[in-house]
This record gives sequence, structure tokens and C-alpha cells, in this order.
Amino acid sequence: MPALDMFSLDGKKGFITGAAQGIGKCLAENFAEAGADVAIVDVNLELAQKTASEIAKKSGRKVVAYQCDVTRAEDAAALMEAYVSDFGTIDFAVNNAGIATFDNAMDIDPETFRRVIDVNLIGVFNTAQAAARVMKAQGRGGSIISTASMSAHIVNVPQTIANYCASKAGVMHLSKGLAVEWAKYNIRVNTVSPGYIQTELVASLTDMLPIWKEKMPEGSRLGYPEDLVGAYIYLASDASKFATGADFVVDGGYTIL
Ligand code: NAP
Repeated sequence: MPALDMFSLDGKKGFITGAAQGIGKCLAENFAEAGADVAIVDVNLELAQKTASEIAKKSGRKVVAYQCDVTRAEDAAALMEAYVSDFGTIDFAVNNAGIATFDNAMDIDPETFRRVIDVNLIGVFNTAQAAARVMKAQGRGGSIISTASMSAHIVNVPQTIANYCASKAGVMHLSKGLAVEWAKYNIRVNTVSPGYIQTELVASLTDMLPIWKEKMPEGSRLGYPEDLVGAYIYLASDASKFATGADFVVDGGYTIL
């Protein structure tokens, strides 16, 4: 097979959570451009619908929006029921929805601490499990990709995000556990660990940007959502059919130093 054809998503279908905006939206745009039909999953249905119709118009692919609060297993099950009725089969599931809070560990209240774990870790499990059940039933496996973070590997400063770091380290090791359990169904489970990516949330933390840049190798830079596309397309495509239980750090070199 010609090398570039291995990376094509032609004829593949699946969902991306947290895809109404930010990294998830960029992945959805590029997956559609690479040939995939894509379900845009988000807690914010109105924005998800706007994003889906923009991408469908631009790419000519089937792109449908679904509302799902990933913290609720029943939402994930309902999502898969609606998805299967609309798309029929699933090839990839990208569990990308995530949040961060910036409370210090001495003062954080239990609800805020738990909320980050709920969205970032339990949420990833809920949609991964719902997708894996369909992948197992359809008998030809699939690719599950979750967004971890460089915060799964290092502790970021000066912000205080111990709960976020714990949730992302959890995503990375959860995925290794799922990769072991689901290999027999030909379901591959991998993570991508982005560095600082200038979505609206991060770009608004203007006082932090120079501090983070200083911690990077000289000449390096902060990232954009587009910088992550190659890793996710690799993992969703047949090019990665021997990769499972792996984590791909894409951080402009931040975690080297
Ligand atoms: P973003 O722009 O805030 O997008 C995240 C999307 O997820 C939003 O549309 C958000 O909706 C949605 N969401 C939040 N809670 C949800 C829930 N319970 N159920 C379903 N959807 C939910 O964030 P991003 O920067 O693109 O980040 C995407 C992922 O990358 C996250 O997992 C994040 O931790 C990870 N990441 C980001 C960076 C970075 O520098 N940006 C670095 C490393 C890893 P609402 O806005 O309505 O809540």
C-alpha cells in the first residue's frame, strides 16, 4: 500500500468528545478532511450543532452533533445508541472532553476536586466503554484515542492543578489497562499527551504564557491545535495498527527539560 494511503481515514467513522470547540473541533475538521464521517459530541449542544454544520459544509462528509455529559454513563450509552442508529458502525472513538481548575490543593473544596476527576477520567472511561461495547459487537475492533496531557508526566507550574495532573495520569494508565483487556477484540487503546496548546482557555492566561515559554528549549514555542492532528490521524488510521497502550507526547519539547 502506498505510504500516505495508510494514513487515510476514507470510509472510517467515529466520534470525538469535547468537539464543539478547541482541540476537539480542530481534530473533527481534519478527520473529515482526511475522509472520515464524524460525530461531534459535547455537553454544549448548540455549539456542537454549529460546529457540525460548519464542518459538514466545508468537507462534504457526514457530520452530526450529539449532546452528552461524559460524566454520566447513561449519557454515553444513549450517545452510542443514537450514533449507531445514524452511522451504523464505529472505527474510532476520541475521548477528548476535559476541564481544568486552578485551585491550590490546600484550599480546594471536595466538589471541585472531584469534578475534574469526573470529567477528565471517569468521562474518558464512560465513552471508551460505550464505544468498546459496540466495537466488540461489530467484531472488527477499532481505535480508541484519549486526550491525556503532558500533565500526566510532569507537574506544571506556576499554576496549581494537582487534581488535573492526577486525572491525566489516570487517563494514561487507564488506557494501558484497557489496551490489555481489549486487545483480544482487536480494539487498540492509546493516548496523546499535548503540551500547552493555544485554545481560547490557554490563550487567555496571558500572564502565564511567558513563564511557560521560558521553561521550554530555546527556540521552541507553545502549540496550536493543528500541531496535534498528525498524532491523532496516525492513531485513528491503519498506519498505527500495531500501536496499542502507547502514549504520544506532543509538546514542543516542554517535558524534556
Ligand atoms: P476546550 O476548548 O475547553 O474544549 C473542551 C470541550 O469539552 C468544551 O466544548 C467543553 O464544553 C466540553 N466539555 C466540558 N465538560 C464536558 C462534559 N462533561 N461532557 C462533554 N463535554 C464537555 O478545551 P481544549 O483546550 O480544547 O482541551 C481539550 C482536551 O485537551 C482536554 O481534555 C484538555 O484537558 C486537553 N489538553 C489541553 C491542553 C491545552 O493546552 N489546551 C493541553 C493538554 C491537554 P464547555 O466549554 O461548555 O464546558
